[in-house]
Amino acid sequence: MNYLSTRGGAFPSSGDGEACFLDILLEGLAPDGGLAMPESYPRITSEMLDAWRFLSYAELAFEVVRRFVTDIPLADLRGIVMKTYTPETFGSDDITPMTSLSAFAPGLELLHLSNGPTLAFKDLAMQLLGNLFEYALAKSGRPLNIVGATSGDTGSAAEYAMRGKRGIRVFMLSPRGRMSAFQTAQMFSLSDANIHNLAIDGVFDDCQDIVKAVSADVAFKHAHAIGTVNSINWARVVAQVVYYVRGYILATGGNDERVSFTVPSGNFGNICAGHVARMMGLPIDRLVCATNENDVLDEFFRTGVYRVRPSDETHATSSPSMDISKASNFERFVFDLVGRDPVALKTLWREVDEDGRLDLSASPLFAEVSGRYGFASGQCSHAERIAVIREVERTTGAVIDPHTAVAVKVAREHASDGVPMVVLETAQPAKFGETIREALGRDPALPAGFEDLLTRDQRFTTLAADVGAVEAYIAART
Ligand SMILES: *Cc1c(COP(=O)(O)O)cnc(C)c1O
Repeated sequence: MNYLSTRGGAFPSSGDGEACFLDILLEGLAPDGGLAMPESYPRITSEMLDAWRFLSYAELAFEVVRRFVTDIPLADLRGIVMKTYTPETFGSDDITPMTSLSAFAPGLELLHLSNGPTLAFKDLAMQLLGNLFEYALAKSGRPLNIVGATSGDTGSAAEYAMRGKRGIRVFMLSPRGRMSAFQTAQMFSLSDANIHNLAIDGVFDDCQDIVKAVSADVAFKHAHAIGTVNSINWARVVAQVVYYVRGYILATGGNDERVSFTVPSGNFGNICAGHVARMMGLPIDRLVCATNENDVLDEFFRTGVYRVRPSDETHATSSPSMDISKASNFERFVFDLVGRDPVALKTLWREVDEDGRLDLSASPLFAEVSGRYGFASGQCSHAERIAVIREVERTTGAVIDPHTAVAVKVAREHASDGVPMVVLETAQPAKFGETIREALGRDPALPAGFEDLLTRDQRFTTLAADVGAVEAYIAART
């Protein structure tokens, strides 16, 4: 399997000029600014789905992932996948169990993706990434120093995936005093020597600006083997395809039945994996993109206009992991939409770069977004999240987190008779105590193993919001 850039340029390649999985694994953007895409989508047939019904999650993950990876020996890849998706790491044999919400709305199912070490769905991809990175770096003999910025979920998922990994160090910047107590404790209580928590005197945007400046400092980047683990990493998308297949299998009895999915969306990474699964032939009816008050994506799916928001128009909400102003994986879908023509893609993206918007409302392509590609969308406000958390608890007894609540609310609006609607649960309520207290008047239960989290010793270094200070810290430790 070879990989292309959405903008038509080449990736640095270790072999004959073609970029394979390992060539793009550690890359962020392609040198031309595009994102990695497979040159074609491998097929999922109904025979495969019938056979895959009987596999464990890890075995299913191997079947899906191996179709995208041709440059890791299959026995090695199998070992990497099998050691990733274990009941020890993900809390149950099912890895992603499914429960019914039919008492709340007919046909709704909840696929639980947040039983990993940091209680958010990002663990499912990040844990695989950690094991793939360790393998790739051992082969090349090179180290990797990951520098990232987090407002909460991504940073902890990355740290728990990379802790104790040979050849990898993590330098994670977070805005000092601005993460929730739970998120802070999760990250700062790690004692692994390869994990460095940098509490920056500033806001999230300051952290992100510093990471961008460090990545743009080419001499520093090369001297210190700097890399990132952001949401555009292709291996993360591939790992996420697996649970769409799993959700399909759990929601159907076989025989080409169709299933719809509703996905709480921010950077379009999660739902992009649903799009890939659908392109591979998984019988997905509708892919419903659910947003909070930051509705860049909902606006596009409703109107055909994609309008990047300036940061002062980005609302801080009670579903913070979806507070984005620009959906970094969206370019992958647009690449397919324009028939995988990099020239057409670049023409559209020039509009985004210059005017901050892209207008397909008058284009025949816009009809294909919902027609051929099956997308739909909706949004959910804070008051609606509170109401849905209450109603789900009253009707089913389940407590859902505010991100999942966004999707549950939107899913009910898009449910149709006879087609199961699978809602992706992206985080556990324990991470968002304040909102759960507002909705239910009590604290969320702490999952097993987290009871003493808030009282564990914390380890972090406070630094000024200054690129030089961060580079000096990294340089002294690499
Ligand atoms: C990251 C995240 C999202 C958004 O996922 P995208 O892939 O960015 O669309 C939704 N919910 C939670 C809890 C998250 O951590």
